[in-house]
Amino acid sequence: MAGVKLIDVVKRYPNGFQAVNSINLEIYDKEFVVLVGPSGCAKSTALRMVAGLEEITDGQILIGDRVVNDVAAKDRNIAMVFQSYALYPHMDVYTNMAFALKLMKFPKEEVDRRVRRAADILGIEELLDRKPKRLSGGQRQRVAVGRAIVREPEVFLFDEPLSNLDAKLRVTMRAELTTLQHQLETTMIYVTHDQVEAMTMGDRIVIMKEGHIMQVGTPLEVYNFPDNKFVAGFIGSPAMNFFSAKLVQVDGGLIIDSGSFQVKVPKESHGIYGGYKDKEVTFGIRPEDIVDTLPQDARGQWEKLNAVVRLIEPLGAEIILEMESGQQRFVARVDPHSKSRLNEEAQVYFNMRKMQLFDAKTEQVIPRP
Ligand code: ADP
Repeated sequence: MAGVKLIDVVKRYPNGFQAVNSINLEIYDKEFVVLVGPSGCAKSTALRMVAGLEEITDGQILIGDRVVNDVAAKDRNIAMVFQSYALYPHMDVYTNMAFALKLMKFPKEEVDRRVRRAADILGIEELLDRKPKRLSGGQRQRVAVGRAIVREPEVFLFDEPLSNLDAKLRVTMRAELTTLQHQLETTMIYVTHDQVEAMTMGDRIVIMKEGHIMQVGTPLEVYNFPDNKFVAGFIGSPAMNFFSAKLVQVDGGLIIDSGSFQVKVPKESHGIYGGYKDKEVTFGIRPEDIVDTLPQDARGQWEKLNAVVRLIEPLGAEIILEMESGQQRFVARVDPHSKSRLNEEAQVYFNMRKMQLFDAKTEQVIPRP
């Protein structure tokens, strides 16, 4: 068992492109950490550096207490599962899972013990004599994970392992991998571009952008307390609404003026936000914090505004409304019993207790109370 540490790690590719800009990250023993971010943010590069498949330009990587900068991939005691988990087509499942151990000259009994244990954990005992072509996508994915489990590594590394599966299977496999991690009690680092995967699987999430770490936290921390506009917009679907606005003082109160609408800042936030009076800010509010009918037990401060409904997406358990207020467009996630009609004006309410403000220039959050 081992944690993983990245200290001031830089990666410059031979063509001079700096993909990773001095990142620092500590992954604890037995933790499930997800690296997430848009394509090209260097999450795979980061993972491949931990795996030893990519050299690091600067800094240190530790697995457990050992600096592994100069340790070959095969000696790092890690196992990696890729998106394209090519199984050997002419070998049955047992042989596919046993293959690496045989290469490493493990005794036959030990190989057998490990393969059967992995098959038992993954519930694929009855598939051991099948060839890959007679397996479903999910079963193949399980075998690929099985190949990693038999190595009994200190750290598992996953690079978008579920991307090739259909949506429904992805959800099932997501849950299976989470359960597996609890069962094996092993450190896992998982790379994905899918924020839902990150939110549902990670003990902690590392959100990356252009080779930088934007925030590290538990799923609810990064959702409720994003450090910056990027994280606020990346985590959550539909994404948080953003409005360029100005904070203005009116009669002792603070108002967010977006040009198209004005909403009052809750009193308890005046102290924190007061310093931004007359400055350009970005006002953020999540679609789920906008309603078109005020809940009966509504507490806190709800600011009313009129907006025209431009698109209705009924999803069954909820309805997504795309709305327009003056020049501003925003998305609301409302109750399925919504009475809002297409191209008609509706009243909506912003739950101001959930608002976020960002510095317009730095895009850093102005922490709320
Ligand atoms: P992600 O996994 O987040 O999609 P990658 O780690 O694959 O991102 O890539 C990060 C950045 O590094 C991208 O801009 C990519 O084009 C660049 N990159 C990846 N591999 C190489 C390489 N071998 N040479 C030069 N640039 C590379």
